[in-house]
Amino acid sequence: MMDEAQKAASEEVMRDKNGGPDGNGQFLNPTPMLDELEKGPWPSFISGFKELAERTEKPMLRGVMDQLEYSYNTKMGYWKGGLVTVDGYGAGVITRYSMIKDKFPEAAEFHTMRIQPAPGLHYNTAMLRGLCDTWEKYGSGIITMHGQTGDIMLQGIEQDKVQDCFDELNQAGWDLGGAGAGMRTAVSCIGPGRCENACYDNLNAHLKLLKHFVGPLHRPEWNYKIKFKFSGCPNDCTNAIMRSDLAVIGTWKDAIQIEREEVSAWVKEHGIDAVVNQVINLCPTKAISLKDGEMVIDSRDCVRCMHCLNVMPKALSPGKERGISLLMGGKNTLKVGVNMGSLVVPFMKMDSDEDIEEFIELVEGIIDWWDDNGLDHERIGETIERVGLKLFLEGVGLEANINMVTRPRDNPYFKAKY
Ligand code: SF4
Ligand code: SF4
Repeated sequence: MMDEAQKAASEEVMRDKNGGPDGNGQFLNPTPMLDELEKGPWPSFISGFKELAERTEKPMLRGVMDQLEYSYNTKMGYWKGGLVTVDGYGAGVITRYSMIKDKFPEAAEFHTMRIQPAPGLHYNTAMLRGLCDTWEKYGSGIITMHGQTGDIMLQGIEQDKVQDCFDELNQAGWDLGGAGAGMRTAVSCIGPGRCENACYDNLNAHLKLLKHFVGPLHRPEWNYKIKFKFSGCPNDCTNAIMRSDLAVIGTWKDAIQIEREEVSAWVKEHGIDAVVNQVINLCPTKAISLKDGEMVIDSRDCVRCMHCLNVMPKALSPGKERGISLLMGGKNTLKVGVNMGSLVVPFMKMDSDEDIEEFIELVEGIIDWWDDNGLDHERIGETIERVGLKLFLEGVGLEANINMVTRPRDNPYFKAKY
């Protein structure tokens, strides 16, 4: 129930839908609360909204701003869900119906179309211009690059325009992303496309996995959602370990490669104290030392945290025997709580198409096990936590491994070859 002050505030934001209060000729209605968000040093989404609304004169945008202003006054959200999709798909459009469309009919529907990103999140400008043109033709023109799901989020379209918009985008080579209880849109970092740290071709692995699971991506059929992220190295620029059920992270098995001449050049530029204070002392497992003036790294103690490689990128690089580690169970809060991924496959090669096929086979087995053993609306990490890692490993046919500890770098009692 609204109190008197809220009621008064809400009345104040009731607008003349024909162009500002009292028909003052302005396209947008006054939004004093939203205007506050434009103050301060940072770019504001409100400025972007206003610029787009005034340029395109789309009533939908004015309605959404009016509803948002109203929400700020009443401290309530007024969007509800529903089901909107396109022919042959069961997911990909996130519905937003206004619960107060009688007050703001221009904002009655404001659905979001999730569009799959290219692996590495890089596009050519012709594709992006085409995407923008189609979106302005059918939708609000608001685009988020990229949403937390990894998708390009096209925000604000009415139901009766969704199919035509999708058809045009699809003809241009775009496809809808995941939603609901199925395979979700995957994300990869730029990897070998531009980064010297990449330990496998994560772009290729992403593409192959996407093609393999395109069915359950468009037609959700599992207990709940499952997300992949592909990071080329343990820097994990895609945030895979925290934000994906299956984190595929590049790593190496042998010793870090040391370019002696580059080490000397770095020492010459920064001084020996910098080597000690910024590299050696900050190695979390004290794997680095100086012997007779030379930098030495004990690979058995290195936990691949990437710190030394990031500080001395020309001097140090990942080892030559490269592949991936697979971690499972990462997710944001939802029902049970935040989890980071736990290591389930310490090392797996990912050099050839056969390696990728083997990886996909493993993933299929994992998903089958989860589909059989998971509860409705239970993420895979929650299932493993509930039944125990032992049952999970037996179920998917993986050998227990000494590296399967939650936080290897905190454990001083294990030394393993990986
Ligand atoms: Fe480069 Fe590693 Fe970041 Fe990928 S995760 S962009 S390979 S540093
Ligand atoms: Fe130490 Fe991390 Fe460098 Fe390994 S990668 S040697 S753990 S700083």
